[in-house]
Amino acid sequence: MATASSKIEQPDDIAETKRVGKKSLYEQSVSTLTTTLLIMLTLFALCQEISREPDTRMTAMTALYVLVASYVYCDYWLWMLHCFLDRVENLQSRISQVKGFAESFQHHHDKPTTLLQENHLGEIDSLVAGVAATGVLLSLWTSPATKLIMVGVCLWGSLGSLNHFYGHAVTSGYEIPAFYKYGQAWGLLPTAKHHKIHHTAPFDVNFNFLNGFYRFYEAVYSGTGSSYAALFAMFYSLNPIVIQIWGLGLGFLA
Ligand SMILES: [Zn+2]
Ligand SMILES: [Zn+2]
Repeated sequence: MATASSKIEQPDDIAETKRVGKKSLYEQSVSTLTTTLLIMLTLFALCQEISREPDTRMTAMTALYVLVASYVYCDYWLWMLHCFLDRVENLQSRISQVKGFAESFQHHHDKPTTLLQENHLGEIDSLVAGVAATGVLLSLWTSPATKLIMVGVCLWGSLGSLNHFYGHAVTSGYEIPAFYKYGQAWGLLPTAKHHKIHHTAPFDVNFNFLNGFYRFYEAVYSGTGSSYAALFAMFYSLNPIVIQIWGLGLGFLA
């Protein structure tokens, strides 16, 4: 198994890095608004929890449920988001934000290393803020566990984005934080080598940003003849903003 620090032959990426020059990696951050919304949602959950009767409090099993549910959903969402935004149809989207995201995702295939000089995490800032803000708006009606699942989705999503950034950094010969280096080496996070396969034309596998069920999703996607209509329906109906409203209304996320 290749380690995160091992050199992988990536002539295109190395040539691209030489072209842009070996500058220091761009600092990754999210806005104060997003951080504030995530802290608010977490505090709301904790305050609600401590005001409950002791026999209705969260247990270790609830904590496990929050971790697993947020990870599994986020893995699915990130896979679907990436697969959908890589579709050329979205370059004509009438929703400017979707069009902008699609251009950015597809530009990344042409110039993979330019993200090393950008705030890659910041690209999902408005999306994370939207998810957290929806959680805050619905907080009167949701349980502490639901609030923490949505915080978890935002954190797993940020982790996926940062690991993508540091994966490209490794490919271009940069030293990266130990957390990502060993996370990739130990198979806890998608490796640079795994993601490199996505960057090989026709860019139709390994859409994942976390190590989840991408093989299953890709088998189903290919089984539907790579249906754009199915992705379209899922993207707009099962995204982490809309799913909170579905979840509350249908009672599976109370
Ligand atoms: Zn892609
Ligand atoms: Zn990439």
